[in-house]
Amino acid sequence: MHASISGTVSEIGTRSHPFGHSSLCVVITSDGKDKWTKPTVTEGLQQTILEKGVVETYSLHRLDLDRGADTVILNGTDHRPYVFVDKAIMLEERESVIVGLKLLMETVDAKKGIIGINASDINLIEAMRHEVMGRDIEIVGLKKEYTRGMGRLLSRDLSSQLGTGLKRAIISRVLTARAVYQAVELGRPFVDSYLSVYGASETAAVKARIGTSFQEVIGALGGYKGTPRRIVMNSPMTGVAQHTDEVPVIRATYALMVQYDVPIEDPGPCIRCAQCVDVCPVNLLPNMLALYSRKGKFAECRRYHVKACIECGYCSFACPSKIPLMQLIRHAKESLGVG
Ligand code: SF4
Ligand code: SF4
Repeated sequence: MHASISGTVSEIGTRSHPFGHSSLCVVITSDGKDKWTKPTVTEGLQQTILEKGVVETYSLHRLDLDRGADTVILNGTDHRPYVFVDKAIMLEERESVIVGLKLLMETVDAKKGIIGINASDINLIEAMRHEVMGRDIEIVGLKKEYTRGMGRLLSRDLSSQLGTGLKRAIISRVLTARAVYQAVELGRPFVDSYLSVYGASETAAVKARIGTSFQEVIGALGGYKGTPRRIVMNSPMTGVAQHTDEVPVIRATYALMVQYDVPIEDPGPCIRCAQCVDVCPVNLLPNMLALYSRKGKFAECRRYHVKACIECGYCSFACPSKIPLMQLIRHAKESLGVG
C-alpha cells in the first residue's frame, strides 16, 4: 500500500468504494512535498517493480515477470468504446512507454518488444515507429481490439501478421509500461492513474492521484454538462455504474463516462433467447452462470467454467432483458477467488 500524496494522516474512516462497497480509507492532508525515493542499484528490477506497487493496470493482477519469455507485447488498442487512454499516453508520454517496455523486456530477459495499436490510428503508428527507430521494438497495427482475456488470440494474430511464431510472450498494457518506467527511473510508486473522461464539459485524458474523487476529476474538466443520469467507471460495456461521484479514483480506474439521456431500465426475466450464448467468444453459457451466481451457487458456476470468462461484456450488451450478466459472472469469479 502506498500513500498517493505526502502529508499528514488526518482521518481513518469508512468511505464509498467505486466497486459498490464501503472501504476503510486513510485521509491525508497534503504537504505538497511528494518526494520519491529512487531504487538503489542493489534492488533488482523485479523487486523494484513489485515494491513500487505496479500491478497490471486493467486487471490489478500481479505482473507476469517470469523470465524466459521471448517477447513482451504491449496492448495499446483501447479495447472499449469511449475509452482513449492508451492513445493519450502514447501521444503525451511516448518515451515513458518505450522505456517502460524496455525495462519489462530486461526484467524477463526478452529480446523483442511489440506495441500493438489500432490499425486505423495511422498518425500514431507513424509517430511511434519514428520513436522506436533503431530499437528492438516493433509497432504493429491491429485490426481488432483485444480485451485483457484475449491474450492468446492477440499472440496468435500477431504471429500470423508478423510471419513469425512467438514462442512465449508476456502481454501487458501501455499504462503498465508507463508505471514501470516511473517506478524504476523516478522511484515513484503506482500512485496515479491515467484516465479518459467522456461526458464532462471537456472530453480529455487526465492524470489523477489515486484517491481523488470522481467529482474533482469531472470538476477539473469543467463539471457536468447537465444533470447526470449515470456515471460509469471504465467502459460502458464492462464498467461499474456509480451511485455517487464521491468515490475515489483507484488503480483499476482507466476511464469515466457520464451519461445524460440514457433510460435506466430494471432488468427483466430471462426469456431464454440464447443471444448471450451466441455472442460469447469463449463458448460459455452466460445465462446459466448468471443464474447460479445470483443464487450464490458458485460451485455450479465453477462446473460451468466461469473461470474462462474473459469479461468482455458482450453477453450483457446483447441481452434484451438487460440482465447484468457480466457483473453477476464477475461476482461469481470473485467469490471463487478466480477473478
Ligand atoms: S462476459 Fe459474457 S460474453 Fe464475455 S466471455 Fe464472459 S460470459 Fe462470455
Ligand atoms: S440474452 Fe438474456 S434473456 Fe436471452 S438467454 Fe441470455 S440471459 Fe436470457
